[in-house]
Amino acid sequence: MKKAIITGVTGQDGAYLSELLLRKGYQVIGLTRGYTQHNVSNLNYLGILNDVILENCDLADITQVMRVINRYKPDEIYNLAAQSSVSISFNQPIATVQFNVLSVLNLLESIRVLNGINSIKLYQSSSSEMFGAVQNLPITINSVIHPVSPYAVSKATGHWLCVNYRESYGLFTSCGILFNHESYLRTSNFFVKKVIQQSLRIKYHLQEELRVGNLDIKRDFGYAKKYVEAMWLMLQQSKPNDFIVCSGISVSLREIVEYVFDKLNLPLDKIVVDKGLYRPVDIQDIYGDNTSTIKELNWSYDTSFYDVLDILIEEEQINKSYFNVQKN
Ligand code: NDP
Repeated sequence: MKKAIITGVTGQDGAYLSELLLRKGYQVIGLTRGYTQHNVSNLNYLGILNDVILENCDLADITQVMRVINRYKPDEIYNLAAQSSVSISFNQPIATVQFNVLSVLNLLESIRVLNGINSIKLYQSSSSEMFGAVQNLPITINSVIHPVSPYAVSKATGHWLCVNYRESYGLFTSCGILFNHESYLRTSNFFVKKVIQQSLRIKYHLQEELRVGNLDIKRDFGYAKKYVEAMWLMLQQSKPNDFIVCSGISVSLREIVEYVFDKLNLPLDKIVVDKGLYRPVDIQDIYGDNTSTIKELNWSYDTSFYDVLDILIEEEQINKSYFNVQKN
């Protein structure tokens, strides 16, 4: 039986990746910063809470990281833990950079010191945000890295540390450079989830309007369930590498809001643009080129984001989690 450690197991991708690996017969050890009923809700939702071994581990403390790796001696480690919000990173730059960089370095050093070359395969979740000040589209693995937020700087640093340990010590480190991907398990502070939940609240007379920031920016959005398949495939290769994981098409935030409003029969005058929600610097348009990832990993992605929106709206209506959300 293969053993995998997943950091950030309580998050969106951690839950879907756990589900995938369990289905493939893995023993899954999920690292959390605290085991409470609240933060295991995603694992609970997927019905896999009792199938994942949960371990408390502060990834900023290398002794704890070494202890857990030494105890389980995993075949694969998937590093998904991160302060993952660009917006929050502008308010908490120090905490974001400290955790998102130190956690990666502690994993790399632990693998290097404990297990030597090529024994444990490490997957790192890097981000399309690293490309920030975009010069040419689509983004490929060779595009210029120029982050424009503290989050993006932290992800670029984690990314280059993984490349450096691969090149310097021969560690098996593969990075997925992921573009935005959504699901029902996204937290309410992310745009797509926020729009769906708050639009439903408007439909059911729980709030008056939807306040949004800059709707003219465009992003390459995909479906989280499909993106975790690419993570697993990266660690099944004989050689480590970096891969762009994206849909290949960008959609404006305005198109998303208008699609959701149309689907729910809501009038567009309930959308209020609030300049206070604009970011200090933002990427205007970004989309990636997934052709080499599809070819090299034998991965597939052909889901339109409008089909993803349909799935998410339906799932939200069934579960009614929009009832508990505060407007922002
Ligand atoms: P989530 O925000 O849903 O999950 C993040 C996970 O990291 C949670 O388990 C969270 O734990 C944990 N975490 C956050 N901060 C800390 C901390 N200080 N100490 C310990 N654990 C912490 O993110 P996703 O699942 O969406 O993303 C997974 C990875 O992919 C992240 O690294 C993210 O940066 C990256 N990524 C995601 C993209 C996306 O569109 N989703 C796009 C590109 C990259 P807790 O539950 O306790 O809060």
